[in-house]
Amino acid sequence: MLLKNRLFTPVPTPLLPAAQNAMAAFTAHHRTADFKALYTRVLADMKDFVGTANDVLVIASSGTGVMEGAVSNLTSPGDRVLVLTAGKFGERWRDLAKAYGCSVDVVEKPYGETFSLDEVRSKLTPETKAVYVQATESSTGVSHDVQGIAKLVRANGDTLLVVDAITGLGTTHLDVDGWGIDVIIGGSQKALMIPPGLAYCGISDRAWKRMEMAKNPRYYFDFRKERKAAAKGESAFTPATSLFAALGAALDFIRQMGSGDLAAGRKALVDNAELAAEMTRAGVKALGLKLYASSPSAALTAVTAPAGLDSGKIVKEFRESFSAVVANGQGDMKGKLFRIAHIGYYDFLDTIGILAALEHVLATVTDKPVEYGVAVRAAQEVFARARRGELEAVGARN
Ligand SMILES: *Cc1c(COP(=O)(O)O)cnc(C)c1O
Repeated sequence: MLLKNRLFTPVPTPLLPAAQNAMAAFTAHHRTADFKALYTRVLADMKDFVGTANDVLVIASSGTGVMEGAVSNLTSPGDRVLVLTAGKFGERWRDLAKAYGCSVDVVEKPYGETFSLDEVRSKLTPETKAVYVQATESSTGVSHDVQGIAKLVRANGDTLLVVDAITGLGTTHLDVDGWGIDVIIGGSQKALMIPPGLAYCGISDRAWKRMEMAKNPRYYFDFRKERKAAAKGESAFTPATSLFAALGAALDFIRQMGSGDLAAGRKALVDNAELAAEMTRAGVKALGLKLYASSPSAALTAVTAPAGLDSGKIVKEFRESFSAVVANGQGDMKGKLFRIAHIGYYDFLDTIGILAALEHVLATVTDKPVEYGVAVRAAQEVFARARRGELEAVGARN
């Protein structure tokens, strides 16, 4: 059959056509009234998308740039910080904190797992200046208990909580201000449905205060400089203008999902990811496959490859027979798992389609017989239950 190229990867994610059109049509210079109006509107809308009353900065960068900024702006050499890691992105926090001369305490769990709150509590000290964690660890598909961690951090004096929610935002219900998250970070190429190139973060008053004391060097990612410029409707450096046009269109789309209310649209987007994830989990389990994550996120489903089979064969067969791009494992996990993301612009037909394709992929790469329809049927049953309003458990579990 004819092949359409489709992304099922956590990065990048499928693009929203309206955002692509807005990008293609955009021509304004960045120091004009038109662009200022767009910039100001987007920054205001981003607060609703993140779900915070705090300032949100949007910077031309991949997500890692703003992760680095969340270390350089908030720490001084020798500061004691706590990194919670159970995957490649947690390891990035540890490496960044070390690069900026922090004294790094770590709670480390094997890939596929998450930390218990007792483990986190036992590593928090009165000297801990900041805690760094992921909301969803995209390399393993695990969702961490940000609410529980936030409770512990908030009870620990002035310790800041920094959350990489790059795949968490738009897929996970997060009460940023209610839980007391100090810095929350996202990226344009995930649930916002636009290409890579913008990273954003919401920053609490506590964190702004810390920046006044933090002595690590920073220049491009100096959040104070960016905030000052934003107050005038400008960016500190040349903004990624066409990506801002795309972002404006994406936020309008999310607002429409909420019938004119952006916060309601964010909730609908999260509910969408949760349902797609629940359907996918039911489908892969019905095929006798195992989930890789102990506490699976709604952002993506990581599936363990059948014993003795390199997951690269599954990834390759998806691509060659269906032009569907799913992700292999990263680093040491390569060959052991494959990942199907449900982030952003991802619907019922995507969810059913990838499961139907998975049935054929397994029939091709394994010698075990596959009963066609079992994954699809399991997903259909989840969807039908959701339509009947019988699925509150989905959100509660993630
Ligand atoms: C995608 C992602 C990042 C950032 O990656 P970049 O390639 O720098 O945009 C960081 N953390 C998580 C959890 C991610 O999913």
